[in-house]
Amino acid sequence: MPLHNHKTTIDDLFTVEAMTKPLNVHRISRKERNPEAVYQMIHDELLLDGNSRQNMATFCSTWLEREVHELMHECIDKNMIDKDEYPQTANIESRCVSMLSNLWNAKEVTDPAAKDHSPAIGCSTTGSSEAAMLGGMALKWNWKARQKAAGKPYDKPNLVCGPVQVCWHKFARYWEIELRELPMHKGSYMSSPEDVLAHCDENTIGVVQTLGTTFTGHYEPIEEVHAALDKLQQDTGLDIPMHIDAASGGFVAPFMHPEIKWDFRLSRVKSINSSGHKFGLSPLGCGWVIWASEKDLPEDLIFRVNYLGGQMPTFALNFSRPGGEVIAQYYNLLRLGFEGYMKVQGASYDAARFFTEGLKKFGLFEFINDSSKGLPLVCWKFKDNAKAPFSLYQLSDELRQRGWLIPTYTLPPDCEDIVVQRIVVRHGTTVDMLHLLLKDFKEVIDELMESPPCGPDKERKSFNHS
Ligand SMILES: *Cc1c(COP(=O)(O)O)cnc(C)c1O
Repeated sequence: MPLHNHKTTIDDLFTVEAMTKPLNVHRISRKERNPEAVYQMIHDELLLDGNSRQNMATFCSTWLEREVHELMHECIDKNMIDKDEYPQTANIESRCVSMLSNLWNAKEVTDPAAKDHSPAIGCSTTGSSEAAMLGGMALKWNWKARQKAAGKPYDKPNLVCGPVQVCWHKFARYWEIELRELPMHKGSYMSSPEDVLAHCDENTIGVVQTLGTTFTGHYEPIEEVHAALDKLQQDTGLDIPMHIDAASGGFVAPFMHPEIKWDFRLSRVKSINSSGHKFGLSPLGCGWVIWASEKDLPEDLIFRVNYLGGQMPTFALNFSRPGGEVIAQYYNLLRLGFEGYMKVQGASYDAARFFTEGLKKFGLFEFINDSSKGLPLVCWKFKDNAKAPFSLYQLSDELRQRGWLIPTYTLPPDCEDIVVQRIVVRHGTTVDMLHLLLKDFKEVIDELMESPPCGPDKERKSFNHS
């Protein structure tokens, strides 16, 4: 699709100077260049990137409806922070917050049982990492206020969590909080409620549980942890809040596993983050954080910006930020509705099952994800008796020659001796594509069996961004 319709020269594109001379791409040039040529050059360089549709590692959207492309194009100039100038964009963000609060079962203020209940509050972010940072900050501020009020010290905060995504390591480091990350147990691939309890004390700002871990896709046992914390309060008086990292699961569980209680139905759950750009089906750059009630977000953290002559509360790490992703989220929520999301996520589970069945036929792999209590992904390791003359890393390398990006990594402690491979099945991962992938698995495995790679495989860096 040519983006430039103003021809700047009649010369053939590939004969202009920008195309025929090596460019110094590390210094800004003195002169201007032909836009078509520069566009084409960059376009061609990007061909060397991996192909996102074959990126089986990512949880993020890699296919978007035409209407989303159009809205993104129309919104390229919308700045999310300019609430006064773009009141409709601001309004649309609030509508998304309402829809998601409702989807995650925040108490309705009109509910007579919810006396004194202030409404849920939240905002869009650039992704779950920013959202987690905001949720975590609220936990820290609230804890500090509790400690101060009780005349207790507030210099040694800790956060208790299971095996978390790297954004929580960042949060803990940036805000000087001791991260008590619990071990992953073999077999369940999660931490346990007992571990959580054993690590909580009066300096615990909160407990983070993940709805769909990045490692194996499991939903952590949130309801059990919640019950354990209730027991802790009965026994010791400690009242510990929970934050749920529902980066992926927030847009999956409500549609596919509505019976699993993980959200504002549980009273300790004070805040939830989710990535609009993962199973929310928005383009990259969209996340959400929602607090159960206004009271859970400390007033200190809120900045008021001028909005239609009034004051609009904002809480964000960024100032200027694009608005298109939020508009696209709104489009998806309106366009798909509950049934649409069910169909899209349901198709991913079906495709994941298809792939699992295909992979089973090799007789080499043991599956460690659980799609009845987890995300639509497939995660496997070698069976203990597999005796394959190659490593999973070498299998990934071979598949990469066909463009497939299949991550191989070790699990976190205490499962660090387990090497796994994983694909995330998401919107646009079709059965047909997975069929082609399985054919390539077959070809590559046959080859590796026939002529095993010589020499031992070297230790690889783990995939999980840490
Ligand atoms: C992806 C992910 C994150 C980080 O989210 P971004 O939207 O990429 O910033 C955090 N937690 C979990 C569980 C995730 O899967």
